[in-house]
Amino acid sequence: TIILGIESSCDETGVGIVRLGADGLELLADEVASSVEQHVRFGGVVPEVASRAHLEAMVPTMRRAFDTAGLALSDVDAIAVTCGPGLAGALLVGVSAAKAYATALDVPLYGVNHLAGHVAADTLEHGPLPSPALALLVSGGHSQLLRVDDLAGGITEIGSTIDDAAGEAYDKVARVIGLPYPGGPPIDQAARRGNPSAIAFPRGLTGPRDAKYDFSFSGLKTAVARWVEARERDGEEVPVDDVSASFQEAVADVLTAKAVRAATDLGIGTMVISGGVAANSRLKELAAERCAAAGIELRVPRPRLCTDNGAMMAALGAHLVAAGVKPSSLDLSADPALPVSTVWV
Ligand code: ATP
Ligand code: MG
Ligand code: FE
Repeated sequence: TIILGIESSCDETGVGIVRLGADGLELLADEVASSVEQHVRFGGVVPEVASRAHLEAMVPTMRRAFDTAGLALSDVDAIAVTCGPGLAGALLVGVSAAKAYATALDVPLYGVNHLAGHVAADTLEHGPLPSPALALLVSGGHSQLLRVDDLAGGITEIGSTIDDAAGEAYDKVARVIGLPYPGGPPIDQAARRGNPSAIAFPRGLTGPRDAKYDFSFSGLKTAVARWVEARERDGEEVPVDDVSASFQEAVADVLTAKAVRAATDLGIGTMVISGGVAANSRLKELAAERCAAAGIELRVPRPRLCTDNGAMMAALGAHLVAAGVKPSSLDLSADPALPVSTVWV
C-alpha cells in the first residue's frame, strides 16, 4: 500500500511517500521545499509569503518525490494531508492540493494532525511505538507532553506551554543576541563553545506549587533580554557563546526534567522527542542521560524527520490505513487550531 503525505502548515512544503507492507513502514521519498529564506529579514514566518511559496512549490515538490520514489501518481493508494494546526492560508494550499489529487486518483483522503505527525515521524526511524509512550513535542509553535496510547486516535495532552513554545524562545533569544533566524541551529552551535553554567537563567514553572507538566519560556526569554541589555548599557561585549549555552541549558533542563517526571509518574517506559527543537544537541544529550538513569527507553528521530516534512504525515496516514479508520470527507477543511487529541478529521 502506497501512502502519499502532504504538509504545508507553516513554511515547509513537504511531500512524502511511504510503503505500508507486512513488515512495517518503508520511506520511499521525503522532499521538502522551504520558504525560510524569504522570512529571514522579518525574523519570523510571514503567513502570506508562506502561502504563496506553498502554491509555487507544491507541484514541483510532488514531482521530485515521485521521481525519487520511482513511482507514478497512479501507484498511490491513499493520501494524508495536514489539516491543522498551523497557518490557515498555508494549510489550505496542502488541503486543496490533496483534495485535487484524491479526486483525480479516486483514492481515500485523510485530513491529519500536524502534531501527531511529528510523533509518527519516529516510527519511520524506530518502528512501531510501544503503547503507552510519552511524547515530548517541541517545535516552533508547540511544547507539549503527550500520552500516546495509539497513534490512530489515542493521544492525550498532559502538559503544555502556558506562553511561548521552546522553538519560539530559541528564535526570540537569537534575535536578542544577534544570531540569525531561525535561532535553534545557530544557538546550538554557539552553545558548544560556551559555558552552560556561566549565567543562572530561571527555570520556568519548576516551583513546588507550579503545574507539574506545564512549561513556561517567556520568563526565560525576558531574563536573557534583561541580562543582555544590562551588559550593553555597561558598554560591555555580550558573550554570545556563554549566553547561548546558559539559555540552552535552562531549556534542556526543564524539558527533560518534566518529561522524565511525567513518564515516571505515569509508569511509561518509552519516551519520544520530536518537533524541530528535538534536533537540539544538548536536549538529546541530557534526555539520554536522564532517561537512562530512570530506566526509560529514549527515541529521537534524526533531525531531518524532526523538522516539518511530508514523510511524517504519510507515516501517520499509514497508521490510520492500518487501523482501518474511516477516511475524511472531501469537504474537509483546514483547522488552524486543531487540538492534538484530534488525530484525523
Ligand atoms: P509547529 O510544528 O509547532 O507548527 P514549526 O512546524 O514551525 O511549528 P518545526 O519546523 O517543527 O516547527 O521546528 C522549527 C523550530 O525548531 C524553530 O523554532 C527552530 O529554531 C527550532 N530548531 C531547529 N533546530 C534546532 C536546534 N538544533 N536546537 C534548538 N531548536 C532548533
Ligand atoms: Mg518550519
Ligand atoms: Fe512542525
